[in-house]
Amino acid sequence: MRTPLPSRTAAGSRALLLAPLLTLGLTLSPSGAEAATLERVEPPHWFLGYRDTSLQLMLHGEGLAAMTPSVDAPGIRIDRFETGDSPNYLFVYLDLGPEASPGRFTLTLEGGGETLTHDYDLRAKNPDPDHARGFSGEDTIYLITPDRFVNGDPGNDNDPELGDPVDRSELCGRHGGDLAGITGSLDYIEGLGFTAIWLNPVLENRMPVCSYHGYSTTDFYAADPRYGTIEEYVALADASRSRGIGLIMDMIVNHIGTGHWWMDDLPTEDWLNFPELRPITTHVHATTFDHNGSAYDRQAFNDGWFVDSMPDLNQRNELLADYLTQNALWWIETLGLAGIRMDTHPYPDKHYMAEWSERVMLEYPQFNIVGEEWHSSPAFVSYWQRGKDNHDGYVSHMPSMMDFPVQEAMRQALLEEIPDWGSSWMPLYEMLAHDFLYPAPQDLVIFPDNHDMSRIFTQLEEDEDLWRMAMVLSTTLRGTPQIYYGTEILMANRESGDHGLIRSDFPGGWAGDSRNAFTGAGLSDAEREAQEFVRRLLNWRKTARVVHEGRFMQFVPVGEIFSYFRYDESETVMVILNKNEAPIELPLTRYAERLRGATRAQDVLTGRQVALDAPLTLSPRSVLLLEIAH
Ligand code: CA
Repeated sequence: MRTPLPSRTAAGSRALLLAPLLTLGLTLSPSGAEAATLERVEPPHWFLGYRDTSLQLMLHGEGLAAMTPSVDAPGIRIDRFETGDSPNYLFVYLDLGPEASPGRFTLTLEGGGETLTHDYDLRAKNPDPDHARGFSGEDTIYLITPDRFVNGDPGNDNDPELGDPVDRSELCGRHGGDLAGITGSLDYIEGLGFTAIWLNPVLENRMPVCSYHGYSTTDFYAADPRYGTIEEYVALADASRSRGIGLIMDMIVNHIGTGHWWMDDLPTEDWLNFPELRPITTHVHATTFDHNGSAYDRQAFNDGWFVDSMPDLNQRNELLADYLTQNALWWIETLGLAGIRMDTHPYPDKHYMAEWSERVMLEYPQFNIVGEEWHSSPAFVSYWQRGKDNHDGYVSHMPSMMDFPVQEAMRQALLEEIPDWGSSWMPLYEMLAHDFLYPAPQDLVIFPDNHDMSRIFTQLEEDEDLWRMAMVLSTTLRGTPQIYYGTEILMANRESGDHGLIRSDFPGGWAGDSRNAFTGAGLSDAEREAQEFVRRLLNWRKTARVVHEGRFMQFVPVGEIFSYFRYDESETVMVILNKNEAPIELPLTRYAERLRGATRAQDVLTGRQVALDAPLTLSPRSVLLLEIAH
């Protein structure tokens, strides 16, 4: 699939390279050598106002490595320029001094009797800190798989040049959802009470099959046209921001897709890990910090390919490292993001990841990043959080991580049969007791499910009582909740755990859908009630400051009842989850240290007043969400 690396010294391979390029319409100069061309400049433009004033320009085009760059503009200086192993790349490092001003300057390339020029655009970085505000415990995140949510523009469904045409009957096929569909659904998303949106990746995925999931980037500076233009992406970000909804971008620096344009002409021989052998990673995350581990295993995990169609990037190559870091800053600034979700966080070189997160947080101190470390051990996940004092001295700058351990413990506790002794809630209680491992457990992102696992309703065997408990847990435990689209209408993947089925089309997102979750048409009573439950819960949460930033205290589960508090000096919320099959009385005396003599409360879920001066009678398999009146 990949063409061999062109060599600068071997005349034979040079001649081989020439033949296919000629068919692309490149011309010969009078001397007989190919005329130099400038085909790509990345980043396509840049922003003035970063604390680190260096800028790497990756220039790609025929014969560019033989050329010398120059710039004549106030405040802009060429710090150095570097070439790779391909003759067709030039990496120009600029320093943008205080005299540099927004506008265009001319970059000149000279060599072999030829001169090329390029007008490069510098723009002012947005000075408003709210432009890239970050997200926090105040927010509730709606996770959307864009191909499967709403087809706002059927005109962009297919792009003959990119292949993989729309086929809604294929689980792994493109279904046509897009950015315009999300922008058009902001009333619905806002109405449900969400204040942030995380999209699975929407950058170009020029892949022959299964391109819909977006995790095979083939151009770091292009939105996939089947999702829309960069302008439409910006329009979504702006429209969201004006409603107080932040946009979180899914980023992948571990790998690219085999359709990436680099694959036809790799800049350096070490741009990828194992470009010929393509070994698949062991997926054994522990190797990255195993005190007793081998270098062999570390490399087999970090440098193996995620899958055969996802070439593994070598972030130890400094040219690539700078390229990837700048790409993140470019998208934050271009879109005014509220956050980044970093895919496969343990898989790239961990020292690069620390450098990456440090730079992002240096340039955007109020920003937020959440990393994916899919492991059930909080020792694993906490290793990556900013502020962790690690055994090996590793210093990360990731403010947040996905709380996979609590997700798994929550499912386990909810599904657990009632034991002869103790409580089925113990796995969740004990997992939360591990919070001491995290420097900032309140900054984790908590979730009942995501795009990579069975729908929570399926995980809970379609039990509506347990589903309601999962919703309340996910939105009132410490952290920032994330809920996958369709969870609010009990979307399920009954037939199998196939990812394409988990990521099913949202009802009403396509013209002619027989069911419509936006209007309620065709939904069952249970689905409509679930949607109303989520709407009520999240709209309450939006203003429940004590749930955003209050402290968390849990009580040991007793007899199938799990109870906890969110509290500060002035406000208290109490959550009581009861898995008993019959009504049961709950004496409140053991909660005196948090109830502090309060005699009444209001149940957020029903609006009902609840007296606290006598034991509570709990309904079978129920959840109470009490605002305590002090
Ligand atoms: Ca479309």
